Amino acid sequence: MLLNQLREHVGTAHVLTDEADVAPYVQDWRGRYRGEVIAVVQPATTQEVAAVVQCCAKAGVKLIPQGGHTSMVGGATPVGTQRSDGTAPVVLSLRRMNRILEVDPVGNTLIAQAGCVLQTIQEEAARHGRLYGVTLGAEGSCQIGGNISTNAGGTGVLKYGNTREQVLGLEVVLPDGRIWNGLRTLRKDNTGYNLKHLFIGGEGTLGIITAVAVRLHPQPAITSTAWLTFDSVDNALACLALLQTMAGDRIAGYELLNQLQLQAVLTHFPSVRLPTDAQAPYAVLVELSDTYAKADLQGLMEDALSQLFERGLVRDAAIATSESQRAAFWHIRHSISESNRKAGMGLSTDVAVPVKSVALFIEQASQAVQARWPQLDIVLVAHMGDGNVHFIPRFSFEEWARIPNQGEVADAVRAVVHDVAVSFGGTFSAEHGVGHVLVKELVRLRSPLELELMKRIRSTLDPHALLNPGKLL
Ligand SMILES: Cc1cc2nc3c(=O)[nH]c(=O)nc-3n(C[C@H](O)[C@H](O)[C@H](O)COP(=O)(O)OP(=O)(O)OC[C@H]3O[C@@H](n4cnc5c(N)ncnc54)[C@H](O)[C@@H]3O)c2cc1C
Repeated sequence: MLLNQLREHVGTAHVLTDEADVAPYVQDWRGRYRGEVIAVVQPATTQEVAAVVQCCAKAGVKLIPQGGHTSMVGGATPVGTQRSDGTAPVVLSLRRMNRILEVDPVGNTLIAQAGCVLQTIQEEAARHGRLYGVTLGAEGSCQIGGNISTNAGGTGVLKYGNTREQVLGLEVVLPDGRIWNGLRTLRKDNTGYNLKHLFIGGEGTLGIITAVAVRLHPQPAITSTAWLTFDSVDNALACLALLQTMAGDRIAGYELLNQLQLQAVLTHFPSVRLPTDAQAPYAVLVELSDTYAKADLQGLMEDALSQLFERGLVRDAAIATSESQRAAFWHIRHSISESNRKAGMGLSTDVAVPVKSVALFIEQASQAVQARWPQLDIVLVAHMGDGNVHFIPRFSFEEWARIPNQGEVADAVRAVVHDVAVSFGGTFSAEHGVGHVLVKELVRLRSPLELELMKRIRSTLDPHALLNPGKLL
C-alpha cells in the first residue's frame, strides 16, 4: 500500500527496494553501521518530498532524510532497523534535487536545491568569481542540505565561519508535510525568532531541507601555502598567534597533524611525498589568501617564517611555489580520512576546546587514554585555528578483532577523551554532530535543562517522532 503510494508520487523508477539498489543507502561509508529499509525514495521536487512525508506519516513509517551519506556519526544510516520487527524506515534521498537555482554575484548569494553536491556549489560560485566558504574532505559527495543539517565545519572556518554562518534562508518540508518557505537572501531581518537556525544542525530531526540560500564571498585572487613542522603543539600555537598578528584574516586554513597521522597517509597513499622531514612530531598546513591579486602574500609568509625560525619555534618549512605544489600539500590533508579507514580501528572523536588549551588538552587526553589502554596509538588531526581536534585513539585491526565487547570499549575510550575536553570548557562534538554514535554522550554531557528544551522543540515540530529515529536525542 505505502509502496504503491510512493511510486505514484515519485515514479516507480525512484522507489528502490531491491537489495543491491538500496545497499549504498543502508550502510555508512566506513561499513560500521547498517540496517534495513522498506524502500529508498528519491523525489525530484519539494512537492514530491511533501507527498512522501505525508504518505509515511499516514502509514506510521519512520523517515530518514539522507544527503551524500558521508556522516562520521551514522547520522543518515538506518542503524539496527529490521523489516521483520517493523522498525524498518523509508530513506528519503535528496540526490535528484541537485539543481542550482540562482547565483547573484552582486548580492553575493546562491540558491540551490538541497541535494546539490558541495563541490558543485563551490564550482558554480567560482564560475561567477565568487567563493562558497565551506571546504571539507567529503566535498565531492556530501550535499549542501547535509552540510546545513550537520552545521559542517571543515578547513575554512577560521576565515569564513562554519556552515551556520553561510546560511541566509531555507525551504523546509515539515514532519506534517507542510512546506515552510523561508528561502530569503536578506542580510537583515529581525522579525521574530529566526527559525532557520532550528534546522541548521538539526540532523534531519525537525524537517527536510529542500532548498537553501547561502552567502558567497569574493574569490581570492592569490594564495600562499606552506607546510611547517614543529617539535611541540605549543610551538604550533605560538606560530598561529604570530601569523594572526601579521596576516590577520588572510589566514584561510591552519591544519595540524601528528606524526602517526602523517605515517598513515604515507603508508596508504604511497605516491604522497612530504614537503619536509617525515620524522617531525607535528606538521601544519597553513594557507593565506587575499582578493587583491597584487598582495605580496609570499613575502608575508617568508617574513613570518624568518621570525619563527629566529625564535626557534619552527623546525622546518616549505612554501608552495606553484599551484600544483599547493594542490599536493592539500592532497595530503584530504587523504587523511581514507588512510585512517585503512590504518586500523580509529575511534574518531571531534572535540573542541578553547584554542589556547589545545596543547594541554592533547597532553592530558593522551595520558588519560593510555593509562587505561596503553596499546592504543593516538592519531591527531586538528582544525587548530578553531580549537577543533580530531583526537583518534587507534587499535590495530587484529587487536580490535580480539575485543569481545567492542561497542562498550569504543564508548568508554571516547568518554575518557570527551571528559578531558569538557574539563577545559570544551565540547564532545564540534562539527560532525551527534548522529547515532553520540546519543548517549549528549545525555551524559548536556545539562537536564538543555535536554528538556531540545526534546520540547523536537516534539513540537515532530510530535509523532517521524523523522530520523534514534538520532541526536
Ligand atoms: C572524507 C570525509 C571528510 C570529512 N570532513 C569533514 C570536515 O572537515 N568537517 C565536517 O564538519 N564534516 C566532515 N565530514 C563529515 C560529513 O561530510 C559532513 O557531516 C557532511 O556535512 C554531511 O553531509 P551529507 O550530505 O553527506 O549528509 P548525510 O551524511 O547524508 O546526513 C547527515 C545528517 O544530515 C541529515 N540530512 C541530510 N540531508 C538532509 C536534508 N536535506 N534535510 C534534512 N536533513 C538532512 C541526515 O538525516 C543526517 O542526520 C567528513 C566526512 C568524510 C567522509
